Amino acid sequence: MDIQSDLVVIGGGLSGLVAGTVAAQAGLETLLLRKGQSATAYSSGAIDVIGYLPEAVEPFSSPPEGLAAIAGLYPLHPYSIVGYDESVTSENVTDTILEKTRLAIDWLKTHLEPSISPLVGDFNVNTYPITVFGTKKPTCLIQKTMDHQDLELRDDSVLLFVGFSGYPDFNPAAAAKTYLEDRLALEGPPRKVGHCFINIAPFGKSYNLSSIEIAKHLDHEGSIDRLAALLKEQVDQVGATHVAFPPILGIRKAVQNIARLQEYTGATIFELLGIPPSIPGQRLQRSMEETFTTAGGKLLIGFEATSCIKKENQIQVIVAKTQRRQVKIEAKAFILSTGKFIGGGITGDETGFRENIFNLMTVTRDYHTARDLIPSRFTNRLAISPSGQPVQYCGLSVDPRFRPINEDGIEWAENLFAAGAILAGYNYSVEKSGLGVAITTGYYAAQNAIALVKEAV
Ligand SMILES: Cc1cc2nc3c(=O)[nH]c(=O)nc-3n(C[C@H](O)[C@H](O)[C@H](O)COP(=O)(O)OP(=O)(O)OC[C@H]3O[C@@H](n4cnc5c(N)ncnc54)[C@H](O)[C@@H]3O)c2cc1C
Repeated sequence: MDIQSDLVVIGGGLSGLVAGTVAAQAGLETLLLRKGQSATAYSSGAIDVIGYLPEAVEPFSSPPEGLAAIAGLYPLHPYSIVGYDESVTSENVTDTILEKTRLAIDWLKTHLEPSISPLVGDFNVNTYPITVFGTKKPTCLIQKTMDHQDLELRDDSVLLFVGFSGYPDFNPAAAAKTYLEDRLALEGPPRKVGHCFINIAPFGKSYNLSSIEIAKHLDHEGSIDRLAALLKEQVDQVGATHVAFPPILGIRKAVQNIARLQEYTGATIFELLGIPPSIPGQRLQRSMEETFTTAGGKLLIGFEATSCIKKENQIQVIVAKTQRRQVKIEAKAFILSTGKFIGGGITGDETGFRENIFNLMTVTRDYHTARDLIPSRFTNRLAISPSGQPVQYCGLSVDPRFRPINEDGIEWAENLFAAGAILAGYNYSVEKSGLGVAITTGYYAAQNAIALVKEAV
């Protein structure tokens, strides 16, 4: 055997990294394979737990309110599965889901505190950060850099949206207009909102700058001071108390950069919630990779799991390939966290929906097999619909221990657990639940894998 380990986590998005960290901290020798980029790195980097019920227009005021509704209405939703436990009775299942989800979300918040993407927010309330479009979105935890603090509480607040010359992905004028209209309709502060552009290109005229170029530039020594000097002129001109930037104020140094801008200008500086390519998503990805390796986990980047050797009801070996070689990895337990269509865990084409490594059964929202379902016949013609796209619900059906099951409802392998976006039964984009499900299911899939490995010793 090329490599041996207690646990192999396949997939390095948030669900896999949470699962791997929990297992490594419990003393398991843990290996994590990641073939490429993840949906996690494309996300806005704000942790949604639950924002809406599918088809609802009004958001939930808090994750506990949303989770209670999910528990009552969708017994096979990944959050509901967290509540299935031998010790839980039907009377306390909702409380169990709330408490177990709270524990997992708080775990993440605590672990990211010393990282490059510390989080703020409270499990008991949804918060409403401002997006790059000037709209608001319900979410649970935001990166500290996205906190607009007392902007909407102070009667005298003045907000300035700042864009960068040559950076086409953010239109500060449009964002300012949308946001101001919203605030006027609500009759709340700020009542004065402006916008401006700043030219930070080090070599004169700039065009088509990307998020990553600007973020990397701002991580360099000295470049934030130049931005601070240019910003101060604009802040003083309009008397801005708060300044909103697109979320590109540095990759590793965003928190320090914001502190420096605040110190220099006297205004509260924050980042808006963005769209891909997402610098805060990349910060979250990097922070969790560092958390995982600090916990003692081994990260193998560029390793794609392709198949397995299974004996009776146990996976014994995973076969993975890199550009140069093939490796066989033996372990006692495995966690599958390969994501959905973006991560690469599931593919949908004219032959149906496939799980790509083990050929596990995929199911629809109604838990019918999706193996022979053709995606084009399963697509909502209305691209933007309140119920979202049905394909987003496709994924793996699991037992109460998060083990994928087959057509007979029996686990496919005793030692294979699944977590994150690969699971069926939820639609992150309409619910606003993506990273919350990834954290919670990663956390509890790991607990189940740890119990199995420790039992076997
Ligand atoms: C554009 C966009 C914006 C979003 N914004 C938000 C947001 O603001 N808030 C929020 O809460 N959620 C958001 N989401 C949803 C959220 O990002 C996902 O639900 C979540 O990241 C899923 O995490 P995951 O770990 O399950 O999967 P992923 O993050 O997709 O990770 C899957 C991993 O598996 C690896 N992999 C796949 N196949 C193999 C293989 N064979 N071998 C080895 N590795 C493999 C991939 O390389 C990747 O590392 C957004 C999603 C998108 C696409």
